Amino acid sequence: MVKQTSSNPVSKFISVFQYSGIAIGLVWDTSAALTVVMALTTLVSGILPAAIASIGGLFVDAVASAFQETGNSAQQMRSEALYYVFLEAGLVVLMTAAQRISTVCQSILRVLLGNKINVMILEKALTLELAHFEDSEFYDKLVRARREASSRPLSLVIKTFDLFRDSILLVTIGIWLYQFSPYAVLLLGLAGVPAFLAEARFSGEAFRIHRRRSAERRLQIYLEMVLTREDGVKEVKLLQLGKLFVQRYVDIFKNIYREDKSLVLRRGFWGYVLGLLASAAFYFAYGWVGFAAIAGTITIGQMTMYIAQFRLGQNAVTSSLTAVNGMYEDNLYLSNLSEYLSHKVPEQTGSKIKGPDSGAGILFENVSFNYPGSENPALHNINLHIRPGESLAIVGENGSGKTTLIKLLTRLYVPTEGKIFLEGLELSGWDIGTLRQKIGVIFQDFSRYQLVVGENIGIGDVKNIHQDDHVADAARKGMADVFIRDLPAGYKTQLGTWFKDGKELSGGQWQKIALSRAFMRNQADILILDEPTAAIDAKAEAEIFEHFRDLTANKISIIISHRFSTVRRADYIVVLEQGEILERGSHTELLHLDGQYATLFKLQAKGYQ
Ligand code: ADP
Repeated sequence: MVKQTSSNPVSKFISVFQYSGIAIGLVWDTSAALTVVMALTTLVSGILPAAIASIGGLFVDAVASAFQETGNSAQQMRSEALYYVFLEAGLVVLMTAAQRISTVCQSILRVLLGNKINVMILEKALTLELAHFEDSEFYDKLVRARREASSRPLSLVIKTFDLFRDSILLVTIGIWLYQFSPYAVLLLGLAGVPAFLAEARFSGEAFRIHRRRSAERRLQIYLEMVLTREDGVKEVKLLQLGKLFVQRYVDIFKNIYREDKSLVLRRGFWGYVLGLLASAAFYFAYGWVGFAAIAGTITIGQMTMYIAQFRLGQNAVTSSLTAVNGMYEDNLYLSNLSEYLSHKVPEQTGSKIKGPDSGAGILFENVSFNYPGSENPALHNINLHIRPGESLAIVGENGSGKTTLIKLLTRLYVPTEGKIFLEGLELSGWDIGTLRQKIGVIFQDFSRYQLVVGENIGIGDVKNIHQDDHVADAARKGMADVFIRDLPAGYKTQLGTWFKDGKELSGGQWQKIALSRAFMRNQADILILDEPTAAIDAKAEAEIFEHFRDLTANKISIIISHRFSTVRRADYIVVLEQGEILERGSHTELLHLDGQYATLFKLQAKGYQ
């Protein structure tokens, strides 16, 4: 978790690095070998520059001595100079190799890590409950986690390694400079600290500002989506929403920009001022070394070496500042990713694959349900028994709780109070896979898959997805076969507009596809249709339900519909109002009762006269 509320400056500073460990862990899991190679190459590129600089110094000294000496010792100095040339060249070759190997490792890791993280995100998504997807904040985490999965973690690892390399470099330089003067080490060490601390501080601040703004950015992304996607564009044009939405988008931007501008200006100012401090210290040391050479306390070669070390040191300070500077964005991503991945999902599944009484059907016992964060119960104290072979119809106004009841039965949600039993076993005791196989359900907002027709129907029973006869039979029962035959490639026609040669269907045709999907599931014990027929004409609906009744003769069928011509055929009818069962009984019984059902039925019957 992010310790972002801490006001302690040390922990604020450390917070910049808190996700580096997680990122390295991810890279390690992706490929331990590549991580080790990267660490080694980092070590090599941290140690070698200082060594190369000092050999440069020894070379200059050898050349200078060769000037002054004569005879044999001049000869010896010449070979020594040559030796240093070769040694330095060798080390440079080694360092270039280390850098190149590191780049290659990074390229490979980027691809592997991107894929690994994407798969982790998707696998986690499979374990989530429906409620998570309806929770805007959590859903936002998922979307953001996916967006930059392939670049951010590696980027953070590279920056962490860069910092590691720069630190090694600074330490090795420190060791060399110590021989010149411990005070020089102290001076240069201290000179870089303010700039570094300021950078880390601003980076932390940027991180916190961005996290706080998550809701605003989400709104911006939403507006972008409405304005640019096919399903939003129709209304945006006809209701002339464009200006309104763009203005909202710009307003959010202006708000964000004001805060950002202040941070960028402060960051720029302090970066410059504190950077000057480091440069001043560097040039002071530069002059100091020069005067020491003039005074004869160090050789020309040592002077060359120390100056080179100073330069390297300054570069290392600048480069580590750049690394810290970019880290907050990576941290932002990683904090989001780790929160998403570590989100605890309660154990969803029991282990039983059979109930004690296969003839017991479905039983709702005092079931109530509140949606997360909602005060009003969507369902209140529901008691209901559905026996095998029985067909149940649920009627009620919009929002009366019909769909919620189905969501509880299919264990998309768990009741807040009360229990639901299937075959005498509470739903929570069932193995979730077995339970889902026993139930076939099509919701009114069923999915329109961008797949070919055959698969769009076949996914109703994944095991038989490619059994063409089975699919054709289901299509016939769902009355989709007629228009499928007219499609350019029949069952092989691509549906939707996302892919090449995709055919878009009308609302009613899509519903027939969805119904056919339900007919694929002829092995299920419970079949549920939640209003998927609104766009189908009444005659076709009646015929489809006839097929549905045949299919469900000794099973449980549950139908939600606003058409009484369909509802009246059910064995048992339940009228829901504001989450409670208002009336129940057969069609005839309910007409006798002369309550709400009778009123609505007569109203609709009148409309047809
Ligand atoms: P019906 O299917 O009868 O039209 P629902 O079961 O969909 O009604 O909804 C019942 C009540 O629950 C409504 O008041 C609705 O606003 C609320 N509701 C439905 N879905 C959600 C949800 N995902 N989150 C919060 N409240 C919801």
